[in-house]
Amino acid sequence: MKIASVIVDVAAKQTDRTFDYLIPDKWEDILQQGMRVVVPFGPRKVQGFVVNIKNQSEFKKLKPIADLLDPYPVLTQELLQIGHWLTEKTLCFAISAFQAMLPAAMKAAYDKEVKLLGSTDFHALHEDVQPYLKQRSTVKLSDVKQEHLSAFYRDIQKGYLEVIYIVKNRANKKTVKGIKPLYETSRLQNLLEQFSKQAEKQKQVVSFFLEHPDEIALKDLCEQLNVTQAPVKALVQKGVLMETDIEMYRNPYDDAAFQQTSALPLTEEQGQAIAPILQTIEEKKHEVFLMYGVTGSGKTEVYLQSIDQVLKDGKEAIVLVPEISLTPQMVKRFKGRFGSKVAVLHSGLSAGEKYDEWRKIQRKEVSVVVGARSAVFAPFQNLGIIIIDEEHETSYKQEETPRYHARDVAIYRGEYHGCPVVLGSATPTLESFARAQKGVYQLLTLSKRMNESALPIVDIIDMREELRSGNRSMFSGLLFEKIQDRLEKGEQIVLLLNKRGHSSFVMCRDCGFVHSCPHCEISLTYHRYNHLLKCHYCGHEQKADVTCPECSSDHIRYFGTGTQKVEEELLKLLPQAQVIRMDVDTTGRKGAHERLLNQFGEQKAQILLGTQMIAKGLDFPNVTLVGVLSADTMLHLPDFRSSEKTFQLLTQVSGRAGRHHLPGEVVIQTYTPEHYSIQLASRHDYDGFYQQEMMTRKLHQYPPFYYTVLITVSHEELTKVVAVTDKIAQFLRQKLSDQTIVLGPVASPIARVKDRYRYQCMIKYKLEPELIPALRFIIDRYQQEIQQKLTITIDLQPYSMM
Ligand code: ADP
Ligand code: ZN
Ligand code: ZN
Repeated sequence: MKIASVIVDVAAKQTDRTFDYLIPDKWEDILQQGMRVVVPFGPRKVQGFVVNIKNQSEFKKLKPIADLLDPYPVLTQELLQIGHWLTEKTLCFAISAFQAMLPAAMKAAYDKEVKLLGSTDFHALHEDVQPYLKQRSTVKLSDVKQEHLSAFYRDIQKGYLEVIYIVKNRANKKTVKGIKPLYETSRLQNLLEQFSKQAEKQKQVVSFFLEHPDEIALKDLCEQLNVTQAPVKALVQKGVLMETDIEMYRNPYDDAAFQQTSALPLTEEQGQAIAPILQTIEEKKHEVFLMYGVTGSGKTEVYLQSIDQVLKDGKEAIVLVPEISLTPQMVKRFKGRFGSKVAVLHSGLSAGEKYDEWRKIQRKEVSVVVGARSAVFAPFQNLGIIIIDEEHETSYKQEETPRYHARDVAIYRGEYHGCPVVLGSATPTLESFARAQKGVYQLLTLSKRMNESALPIVDIIDMREELRSGNRSMFSGLLFEKIQDRLEKGEQIVLLLNKRGHSSFVMCRDCGFVHSCPHCEISLTYHRYNHLLKCHYCGHEQKADVTCPECSSDHIRYFGTGTQKVEEELLKLLPQAQVIRMDVDTTGRKGAHERLLNQFGEQKAQILLGTQMIAKGLDFPNVTLVGVLSADTMLHLPDFRSSEKTFQLLTQVSGRAGRHHLPGEVVIQTYTPEHYSIQLASRHDYDGFYQQEMMTRKLHQYPPFYYTVLITVSHEELTKVVAVTDKIAQFLRQKLSDQTIVLGPVASPIARVKDRYRYQCMIKYKLEPELIPALRFIIDRYQQEIQQKLTITIDLQPYSMM
């Protein structure tokens, strides 16, 4: 008998290894590596992944596999390999890595059923339990009312009831009823002649199948023939036709709605950029390209034509775009060029829709996938190119286990398939640009905008000056003037505010009291609409006070400005203007993001006001003014990338103005106008910024000069957190080489979240062979406590420092 090594769906240190199971004879020929199975595990049954099939096991008394969840492998050899690699790179459990590579619908769901044991006297059951088991011998625990659960537990303990664990496959296919003939055409012809005169409708149906012998959806059949279902049903009863289930895709996009586009003749610059990419495609060579091109320089057209070549070679392409810029505009460009060969994966799709898009990839029905981070795991087997647009976006790093960066996975897959990886950006990360400088990546530059349209002129406004000259509004004189001017001309305006909510915090002007969350070390945000104070970390909310809880003063002031407040002020100052507000609050519902952008595109409003979600990828020809209300919001975050992030955001949002025939202008309001990231962004000077920021990074020993690891410890008790973090830091100092720097322990920038204290320490290293063993040792050492209340998060190459 053959044996399968299985990774089980229990994410814990002790179970982070393979378990052996017998393969029942009936499945011996079917079972393959990468298939999902159901296996007994202790008292329950769990989902698992077959990672190996072998003839022998060192263990005796193996249990057999209970069930197969798929008739084919859901993880290819390559993906299994990537899974193992991720466990090394991110220190995650194998099961977490495998699950991250599949659509959420394929993650197992578990249910518990309670079964009445045969020997039990029904009347011995608790009276709360009896009604559930009157008619049937099992009940799902999830169907039991909360207040009856304890009675159930009592009866389980008494041995009257048994708990059965069931694994549910949530990856449901959508089907519709179909109809097809049971006989071939000549028999149907014969049958037709035997029908009586009265069966006119049935004759009509049979005649239809004489001409269209294929399966058809019942609904479509009835519509086409204008008949009810009755004659069809009658024919099924007679055994002439049979009912089928036709598998359907939930298609979120109507492919016919996309206008077909064809390749544009490339500019000279584009031609120079695409040549080396096409060459590596031809030579089947792996190479990483950094395509550094200002916004509007035609990067996307280069992507499209590179993909076109890949498809001509019969291969496949993955295009990653940040979630936020996976706009209908973006989808249109790819669907317009490649039509139904394109699958789209983003968070706006339902779990079922995502699963269907994934299956199209799996069945090789599409050859291009455009998607957010996790689309990098698309199960293509013949990849010809991977493109990462806006490569500087931090959303490519997953902030939960497995903490992988899509760029690393893309490069791994590029090596595996021998194909190019193209990273595109107008503001590449310092890490990528430094690699391009060193020749690790090949640099491709697009320096000119299409139509030679000039980059917008940028004005920096010192808001301290505005205040001194008596302007207490959130709009500087210049910005307000320009807004009015555009409104008169009928042109459009984009206003960026990097915050949501009405005000950022509430303070008593007499005693300085600031409301902060009772569970988290962070001030509460005021939401005007329902007069609530909310915590953006844990969701805590409370009514906003009218008087100060400390000194009873009624001089409560709402500090900072949120999008809501800007909107109100705009409406007050410019009542004639229509404003569309886009932030987490207005785009929460499915499709809202898209709808608001469409409205703006159709010029139903002159002003688009929003958080950074409006900064990316939008292309509206009529926008001639961009205002940044407060450029400093990100600058003072405790994060060594805050200058870089500020520069990127300002550059991106400036790129929204004057993309087409109308020239654009940008106004940046700030309290720190002298800061180099603001100054250099206003001059569109990436190279200058790169030089300056590299010096800062070198001086303070940050990436790209050093690699970093962030270890965050949290626990309900402060003393415990401090003690553990201190031990970890000491251990690391002792274990790691002298060139490696260990910082901390210090309180995390957000020192408490959901009643848990947070401490951290940071490792900075260049070459550290002892790193992974040391980190693994820490995880092992605290295993016992991690299962109780302690959490230790280890983030290699972190992007979030909070
Ligand atoms: P990027 O991706 O660098 O921001 P895009 O690819 O969106 O730039 O190009 C900006 C605009 O220029 C788009 O409207 C695009 O259709 C157009 N464009 C790109 N390449 C060409 C070309 N070779 N000829 C004419 N128009 C082009
Ligand atoms: Zn007070
Ligand atoms: Zn909170």
